[in-house]
Amino acid sequence: MFNLLTTLVDNNRIYGKQGKLASYIPSLLEADPEHLGICIVELNSGREFHAGDCDTKFTIQSISKVVSLILALSDNGRENVFKKVNVEPTGMGFNSIINLEVRNKKIPYNPMINAGAIVTTSLIYGQSKEEKFERIIEFLRRATNNQNISINEEVYECEKITGDRNRSLAYFMKSNKVLEGNVEEILDLYFRQCSIEVTARDLARFGAVLANDGLAPWNGQRLMSRDVCRIAKTIMVTCGMYDASGEFAVKVGIPAKSGVGGGILATVPRSYGIGIYGPSLDKKGNSIAGLRLIKDLSDELDLSIF
Ligand code: GLU
Repeated sequence: MFNLLTTLVDNNRIYGKQGKLASYIPSLLEADPEHLGICIVELNSGREFHAGDCDTKFTIQSISKVVSLILALSDNGRENVFKKVNVEPTGMGFNSIINLEVRNKKIPYNPMINAGAIVTTSLIYGQSKEEKFERIIEFLRRATNNQNISINEEVYECEKITGDRNRSLAYFMKSNKVLEGNVEEILDLYFRQCSIEVTARDLARFGAVLANDGLAPWNGQRLMSRDVCRIAKTIMVTCGMYDASGEFAVKVGIPAKSGVGGGILATVPRSYGIGIYGPSLDKKGNSIAGLRLIKDLSDELDLSIF
């Protein structure tokens, strides 16, 4: 496995040159576009395999949407969550506003686009925004078996300053009574969760928890119910890779979620957790080299669940 991963990283690193770093905040532009790393946790043996830049830190960005979905479902139950956010792919960009107005029911299409994640974030329980954030980060620490997970303060400040599109989505949903509560506090929590730093290794472990039906493989601790885990993986398949989710399902065929920080969280039910980092992005916002790497891996190990 080590040799396979090393070869796949070496073969695909070059594609970083063909993409672009996310540029909406300066700190994301500091990444090296030719960084590429992968880590795999094998459930059977508990072993971790890695190659390339798998311990480079980057911000989790949209991959945090999986966490807010899991916590919202665990806190409120699926019926209450899906009254406020749908589960259909959009075919539109992740921060598109158009569907919030033209649909009959004015709830967001799914929890993997910004509007949907702002809603799931608003549903997370806690007495204060600090307590809610503590629950998000603590969940991630447990799901990655890494107590050192923390926030990148510089990215968080920039997310806040540049977050006008997210602010528009949130206030629009508030006006339609889809979003309830203090909008600025909800946005602050959303910006914070996007700014949490992880590595490909962290994502691989999180993927292993999802692959293991919600149980952390290293200590048997249950981090979410089987039902919540199943819903999260299903929505990752249909909506996790922005408006390239259909193509990804055809070509790679496993539940995955990407973020503009360059991360990909992927999970092969009952077999593997996979984490990838490659900060250079394609036009849809997915890691350009990371996509090729995971496609090659899926072909080599016959990972498609379909
Ligand atoms: N912080 C970004 C936003 O909310 C996350 C985007 C992403 O990773 O898709 O716009």
